[in-house]
Amino acid sequence: MITQQLRNALFVVSLLLLSACGTAPTTNTADIITTTGMIADAVQHIVSPNMSVLGLMGSGVDPHTYKATAGDVKRLRNAKLVIYNGLHLEAKLGDILKELDKPTIALGENVPQDLIHHLEDYPGQHDPHIWFDVPLWMQVVQEINKTVSAFDPAHAAEYEANTTAYLKELAELDRYVRQRIQEIPTASRVLITAHDAFGYFGQAYGVEVLGLQGISTAAEAGTQDVQNLANIIASRKIPAIFVESSVPRRHIQAVQQAVQARGWDVQIGGELFSDAMGAPGTFEGTYIGMVKHNVDTIVNALSKQDSHQ
Ligand SMILES: [Zn+2]
Repeated sequence: MITQQLRNALFVVSLLLLSACGTAPTTNTADIITTTGMIADAVQHIVSPNMSVLGLMGSGVDPHTYKATAGDVKRLRNAKLVIYNGLHLEAKLGDILKELDKPTIALGENVPQDLIHHLEDYPGQHDPHIWFDVPLWMQVVQEINKTVSAFDPAHAAEYEANTTAYLKELAELDRYVRQRIQEIPTASRVLITAHDAFGYFGQAYGVEVLGLQGISTAAEAGTQDVQNLANIIASRKIPAIFVESSVPRRHIQAVQQAVQARGWDVQIGGELFSDAMGAPGTFEGTYIGMVKHNVDTIVNALSKQDSHQ
């Protein structure tokens, strides 16, 4: 009797151990692995429901400094197809992504290269933040369609139809952004954030862009950078500056304090989603929602100049 109870107890313990040490649940892996959520969202629109998609970098994750976990390495190895941004965005994943023995594509390196911004201060390097120019992102979506159709030709017609439908939504998004930017007084079309993520956005939509840090968040901004930016904001009486969801707030708060010390009360205009989307299930947790949230936040803060002065 006691022996049987002991056996039962041991059986329960071993089940618990198995579930604790077992492999990742199936929902935690996918046919197609992407790096950023923006790419996962686009791929999902095209391949669903034929293939499953998982983005490694969740909400609030900074892709410039992101390192692969043991689970990520496993997911990448088990995937059928790997799709990433490239242009050195996933700086710490570079070697892992290049050494994968499977179909892998760096989207930014496969769209027409005359659309890609070269960095004047860093010869041979490019701005990786291609998702903020919606027409350029539409080229990326077409590149994803080509990639998945070549990989899974049996469903190519379906992927083509899904791509056409998503491109239509993106064209509407592009029109929305253009219309809203027109609401900002021309002199106030200046976007100041913690790092230089909005270069493509600025060029596509006619907004001057200044960042505290450079293109990557890997190098911390120095005191001199803060002072220089504060001088510009105070002398031009720029009404608002913005924090980014994937960069610590203290960077932009330091700029605000330095501007206030110069007698100009610059506001924090809100939080922008720069290099990562919002939480899954929220409006900002999709590419279209993220872009709309950003443009609404920017327009609302920068249009307030008259009442602020
Ligand atoms: Zn960035």
